[in-house]
Amino acid sequence: MGKRRFGIGFYLLILILIYYGFTSLNNSALDKVSTVDHTEFIQLIEKNQVKEIDQQGSVVYFLTADGEAHKTIVEPDIMASFYDKYFDKFESGDIKISFKEIKDNTWQRDIFTTVLMIGGFALIWFFFMQSMQGGGNKTMNFGKSTAKVYTEKKDENVTFKDVAGLHEEKEELEEIVDFLKNPKKYNDVGARIPTGVLMVGPPGTGKTYLSRAVAGEARVPFFTISGSDFVEMFVGVGASRVRDLFENAKKHAPAIIFIDEIDAVGRRRGAGLGGGHDEREQTLNQLLVEMDGFSKNEGIIIMAATNRADILDPALLRPGRFDRTVYVGVPDVRGREAILKVHTRNKPLADDVDLKKIAKRTPGFTPADLENMINEAALLTARENRNLITDKDIHEASIKVQAGPAKKSKIVSDKDKKITAVHEAGHALVSRLLPNYDPVDLITIIPRGRAGGFTAYIPKDDDEFITKTYLENELVTLLGGRVAESLVLNEISTGASNDIERATNIAKSMVQTFGMSDSLGTIKYGTDDDNVFVGRDMGKPRDHSEEVQAKIDSEVHRLIDEAYKKCENIISKNLNLLNNIADVLIERETITGAEFENIFAGKNFDGSEKTSEVEETLEANENQDQENI
Ligand code: ADP
Ligand code: MG
Ligand code: ZN
Repeated sequence: MGKRRFGIGFYLLILILIYYGFTSLNNSALDKVSTVDHTEFIQLIEKNQVKEIDQQGSVVYFLTADGEAHKTIVEPDIMASFYDKYFDKFESGDIKISFKEIKDNTWQRDIFTTVLMIGGFALIWFFFMQSMQGGGNKTMNFGKSTAKVYTEKKDENVTFKDVAGLHEEKEELEEIVDFLKNPKKYNDVGARIPTGVLMVGPPGTGKTYLSRAVAGEARVPFFTISGSDFVEMFVGVGASRVRDLFENAKKHAPAIIFIDEIDAVGRRRGAGLGGGHDEREQTLNQLLVEMDGFSKNEGIIIMAATNRADILDPALLRPGRFDRTVYVGVPDVRGREAILKVHTRNKPLADDVDLKKIAKRTPGFTPADLENMINEAALLTARENRNLITDKDIHEASIKVQAGPAKKSKIVSDKDKKITAVHEAGHALVSRLLPNYDPVDLITIIPRGRAGGFTAYIPKDDDEFITKTYLENELVTLLGGRVAESLVLNEISTGASNDIERATNIAKSMVQTFGMSDSLGTIKYGTDDDNVFVGRDMGKPRDHSEEVQAKIDSEVHRLIDEAYKKCENIISKNLNLLNNIADVLIERETITGAEFENIFAGKNFDGSEKTSEVEETLEANENQDQENI
């Protein structure tokens, strides 16, 4: 990595070492003073050998005629009698009472320390001023990039074979790999290779991972820096880091420069709130300058990743800069299965683990979520001293990844338990009674994250389009918790706030985005999400009139109200079933989809038949229930 000067940290370390070296030397000099017992001390006084004395409490240091330092232990009152006894020796000056110099050089050390401290501060100040002014000053370490180099180490390297799924993405990147491997081939035919590749996608989808795989596959050095690293408090540092990063990479060409989270530095200029973004803009400008400064085909590919491509400065996306964009999305069911395969490669799985099934019940999981889930399952297995990871472990882990860890130790009052059980039973029951809605996967009333309970479903294949009917059913299901509380307990709680928020968002999207409202037609109205982007979208005006907004509001209201009525209708006709589910939940806290089906069929949760007496009432209830659906 070229010639490197020492950083300020180094100088500080030296100062600290000198200081401690000095003090410890001093102390050890004191320790080495030979100790004599006090009879010998008195003998030495009598023989006029003692020249100087310094009393420090019960420790007495003294200097003898031959220039040696000694110490002895004398209690202060005994020492006082010595002073009386040998008063004339002290008075005549044969024995001096001062001799701090022997014991230690306290005053010298104090001065030395002060000088050191002043020097240290001066040095810090000097570095600070330097970086404030120049930025490009090469004797300083502030401006040096902290980019790491990943050179090829066979076992550590990620290559395309470690990247599961993402076939299209890999295909697009294969060309880049080929260019880095055989630049001559492209130069010979005069092809201009893309300068920059921008990877766009939600967090945890594998953007960083994929970039490293490109470097690993091409077997070239990989210089990586994160956008947030650029955002320094010293003016001019970001820009000099960029310069330095590119200089370094050029020396190692062919190479990849990877700028992670580029949005931190590449946000569109002039969009900041209240200014004060000079530093970021300087850095961005420097980045643009460097990217333009490449003569063609220098063998450097710049890759960058962001989950906020929408806020990037358009100048970054011009030809010759990031002229390729690779979209990395959330994997589909096949992708998830492949990713699960990669991450379970070295893990002992029980026979009941079916990766295909797991992939099916984890829609919306990013690769990072999946990796996290498998790891959690492994931790769970180890914690219980088992040696195979079971389906149940993975199940538990998947819920933990979605909803946060189970707070088993949290004490839940019986009243809260009852409310939660009724609430979750409401969700599960309604969803079960709606035609074609997702089957229940698991219901739990163990608190997780901020939720008091949790009902998970096995969603449909995520390749399918979502229909209006499905969304309407989802609204009804989401309201199931609240409706159950109000019907069974005659009381409503705050436990439904998240359900209400989600239902409202769905209803709004149906009206404003999906054109699913007859009265408003197939038109998109304004932004339906709450993403107020810093910068560009700040204070974006509504693109429709107050009148239309009022219509939208009333349509959203209507959708929710209708869903509520439908939900109320279903639950009120199946209250016995609801109570059965809630009772089992209170007793067992967690029930699986299969156990839920048993209860739904009027059996015990484990599938055994209920005792006749109960069965009769139950049957009666159920017959009544069924008629009313
Ligand atoms: P991003 O940069 O998009 O936020 P990462 O690249 O950090 O996401 O990915 C997070 C983790 O997910 C990685 O550490 C990796 O283990 C895993 N991962 C991502 N994509 C894949 C994939 N295609 N195959 C296997 N594992 C993946
Ligand atoms: Mg990343
Ligand atoms: Zn709920």
